[in-house]
Amino acid sequence: MVTAKARAVNGPDQNFRETEVTRRELDTTDVLIEIKFAGICHSDIHTAHGEWGEVNYPLIPGHEIAGIVSDIGENVTKYKVGDRVGVGCMVDSCGECENCREGEEQYCLKGNIPTYAGTDKYGEPTQGGYSTHIVVTEEFVLSIPDSIGLDEAAPLLCAGITTFSPLNHWNAGPGKKVAVVGMGGLGHMAVKIAHAMGAEVTVLSRTLNKKEDGLQFGAKSYFATSDEDTFTELAGTFDLIINTVSAKIDLNAYLSLLALNGSLVNVGAPAEPLEVNAFSLIPHRRSFAGSLIGGIRETQDMLNFCAEHNIAPNIEIISADDIDHAYKRVLDSDVKYRFVIDISTM
Ligand SMILES: [Zn+2]
Ligand SMILES: [Zn+2]
Repeated sequence: MVTAKARAVNGPDQNFRETEVTRRELDTTDVLIEIKFAGICHSDIHTAHGEWGEVNYPLIPGHEIAGIVSDIGENVTKYKVGDRVGVGCMVDSCGECENCREGEEQYCLKGNIPTYAGTDKYGEPTQGGYSTHIVVTEEFVLSIPDSIGLDEAAPLLCAGITTFSPLNHWNAGPGKKVAVVGMGGLGHMAVKIAHAMGAEVTVLSRTLNKKEDGLQFGAKSYFATSDEDTFTELAGTFDLIINTVSAKIDLNAYLSLLALNGSLVNVGAPAEPLEVNAFSLIPHRRSFAGSLIGGIRETQDMLNFCAEHNIAPNIEIISADDIDHAYKRVLDSDVKYRFVIDISTM
């Protein structure tokens, strides 16, 4: 067993504090990872604050994990000590259901086991990556290509795959017009990936504040949604819209921007229900859909794609003592575009 240093919250209104977590003895297919960097995802904040249902505190968040293999179980074949690896939003699934067998473990019919705030197959609570070590079964460990720095790799494990998967599934590519709603951690990755896939990308953001960045990330155009003319000018334009915003938006206004057969896909998860008028969908055979991270095979494809196309998130590295401050800044939209914790400061 390894006793890892970690940062945890003890309740919805608490600050992070230093703690320790015991990682399980290596099972035959387990990999022990020495974590080097962990990204801060908006989901960490929702969960830490108890906004997504009851949480068993203390909670150690973090599901954008990059590090080095430091030990392996006796039957591990995919990894060896010293390998550069990552772990994303899930650490296990049943492995037997139809969806798991298809490589869509995130949609496991028995529920995937999330990296934190879940219960593993040993009946123990899962604790995430704001920690010096983690033990994960090799099937849920990703290989990080050499050309991607471990600090930049971390946010790919959630923000990267969450946007890559719907772009891939709905065939973003040459000849397709893709709009990205919101230019935060998820949105900036969606722009870079969709552009690299060959699609024509438009950013729809509340203001034009980040226009220069958006165009630099590969967007062809950038519109402010606070300007009502945007919705008349772009009516019927897009084949695919990826909505990364976690707040309530006027869905019908965005659906009106879809072309024939277009799809609006939600990856942002607002707490309140969204209203859809059937007549926003029917006249142009439009679809409204959702998408959850991606399977393990697809996550590896995403990492390889990012390496091949030189794509990395824009990050700001912080120390472990700055997590509370970083949370405040994420809530104030004051981050370009992802905070990553340097675990050596733990
Ligand atoms: Zn996340
Ligand atoms: Zn399953």
